[in-house]
Amino acid sequence: MEIPKFLIERYQFWKKNTFEDYKGIYEQSSKNPQKPIAMIITCCDSRILENTIFGGSVGDYFIHRNIANIVPPKNAKDQNIQTLSAIEYALKVLKTPNLIILGHSNCGGVEYSYKTLIDKKNTKDFEYINQWISCLKNSYNNIPKDFSETEKIIFFEQENIRQSIKNLYEYDFIDKLINENKLNVIGLWYQINSGLIKFLDNNDNFIDLD
Ligand SMILES: [Zn+2]
Repeated sequence: MEIPKFLIERYQFWKKNTFEDYKGIYEQSSKNPQKPIAMIITCCDSRILENTIFGGSVGDYFIHRNIANIVPPKNAKDQNIQTLSAIEYALKVLKTPNLIILGHSNCGGVEYSYKTLIDKKNTKDFEYINQWISCLKNSYNNIPKDFSETEKIIFFEQENIRQSIKNLYEYDFIDKLINENKLNVIGLWYQINSGLIKFLDNNDNFIDLD
């Protein structure tokens, strides 16, 4: 095993600079249990810098990433264990008051699902991904037929956020927390090229955040 040079250099830079600047915060945070202000479920995509976008400091955000930021439905027993165990810990143990589903533009997972669900011939030889993205079927079925291809993909990305939020309600412990006003669920869609963020309003529409 060889540690790549970029890893050593970047670590050393961080240790000498950022860590030094925030030393007190790091030390303090090790003495107390974490108390994040929000859990963020987002995509594995390397272009999503949620801590940068939302000014995250040590202990602010409890992050879970998966392909295409999906919260699988309750009946998807083979798919939901990982995401739901992260949610369970954030809500039951850490009592995190906000749960954010952060989807994004140019999502490779959504795009691949779109192609695959249109035509099974587009299915690649993925042992795990094909099973995972079967969770997107409901969202796919809601895509309006008269949209252009670009509009369809954006709709699909956003519909996946709506559907993931709907799926949250299927889990009794999450549904209970929402009904008791102990949990605020937020749906966001982030456009990579423009930095624009849209949020899901009470009418189920995506509206510009700024
Ligand atoms: Zn993605």
